[in-house]
Amino acid sequence: MITEPIFENTKIAFALKSDVELERAFFLFKMISIQPLVKIGTAATNLAIKANLPVEGLIRVTVFNHFCGGVNEEDCLPVIDKMYEKGVSSVLDYSVEGKENEAEFDSALTTVLRIMDFAKERKAMPIAVFKPTGFGRFKLFEKLGRGDDLSKEERDEWHRVESRFETVCKKAKDNGLALLIDAEESWMQDAADELVTKMMQKYNTEKAVVFNTLQLYRHDRLDYLKKQHELARQNGYYLGYKIVRGAYMEKENERAEEYKYESPICKNKFATDTNFDQTAQYILDHLEDICLFAGTHNEDSTYLIMEQMKMKGIPNDDPRIWFGQLYGMSDHISFNLADKGYNVAKYVPFGPVKDVMPYLIRRAEENTSVAGQTGRELSLLSKEKKRRKLEE
Ligand SMILES: Cc1cc2nc3c(=O)[nH]c(=O)nc-3n(C[C@H](O)[C@H](O)[C@H](O)COP(=O)(O)OP(=O)(O)OC[C@H]3O[C@@H](n4cnc5c(N)ncnc54)[C@H](O)[C@@H]3O)c2cc1C
Repeated sequence: MITEPIFENTKIAFALKSDVELERAFFLFKMISIQPLVKIGTAATNLAIKANLPVEGLIRVTVFNHFCGGVNEEDCLPVIDKMYEKGVSSVLDYSVEGKENEAEFDSALTTVLRIMDFAKERKAMPIAVFKPTGFGRFKLFEKLGRGDDLSKEERDEWHRVESRFETVCKKAKDNGLALLIDAEESWMQDAADELVTKMMQKYNTEKAVVFNTLQLYRHDRLDYLKKQHELARQNGYYLGYKIVRGAYMEKENERAEEYKYESPICKNKFATDTNFDQTAQYILDHLEDICLFAGTHNEDSTYLIMEQMKMKGIPNDDPRIWFGQLYGMSDHISFNLADKGYNVAKYVPFGPVKDVMPYLIRRAEENTSVAGQTGRELSLLSKEKKRRKLEE
């Protein structure tokens, strides 16, 4: 490794955490690390919410406060400002999921547009984000992706989805923001990809404004990127890609098994890691055409990108390269990268407690199932607790 190992510096990593907050984070990760507890806790919480039991307060002071910035954007301001003092930007993520009707899609659109105006005034928020199924019915994306004919009503419905995408992309360009569009399950993603490509053709003519997401647990994504690159070259527009490993692995494998098709997921973790690193490499080799947002908590992949930047003589703060982590996770990566001058942004989820539950449950499960991730958080928090004790 030619890059110095910077992620061990817990003083920088946790500079924003008071002693009490450090203890709270330690306790939370300790709980999350107990798999049966997460399973029971998740089931009990879902039941309690459905039964309208007063559990919101408890959720708020535990997982919600750790993984979310607040209920609305104003609530998130203290977090945004504090992180920016340390050089870490915020991507406010309206994390309400599973909505199904037009009024809810319009309301999500209004919220995203409002955040983009909120961001326009703030240097700490150079990037916006949304989820395709926040703006349209999952089943509609799925049907279109399969190539099925749409009814007249469905065609009208799809036009409204296109128009929501268009409105947000235009706003991003007008407000001088970059716009990340998340990726979801593979069986709805084709229709989203096609629409995002249209948006890139229209809004990325001078620079990358619109970023699509590549989930590198999918073995077809590097080829897909190369084809998109060819298309962009032929038609003269820039590409922006957020690269992630992917958050829906179990669901993907289960569905493939149920419907008897080859799973789109790489055959093992090593294959996903290789795919992720090769894709990052491909983008860094073509930075003149493609911008990179590396959304990962994986230290090896992050070091690899840093190393390649160094070898190619790319400055740490090159505006075409961003690193991203989720709020409440991997502060050792975010704050140490920012300390060395790299561009870093954290997704800061927000929304009503009840509505962000699917997001919170994914985070709890992810931290339980990903071997090593919680252990790493715990060991760093514990190291920092000891360091502070010695300093007293
Ligand atoms: C800023 C940001 C934005 C994100 N946006 C999205 C998004 O739009 N869409 C989305 O789906 N996810 C998104 N994610 C989540 C992301 O996909 C991962 O779930 C999460 O970051 C964990 O992966 P990692 O790169 O941090 O590293 P690691 O912890 O090293 O990798 C864990 C990941 O590896 C893969 N994996 C694990 N085991 C296997 C196996 N046996 N075979 C194959 N692959 C395996 C899975 O994808 C798993 O999540 C985002 C994450 C961040 C930080």
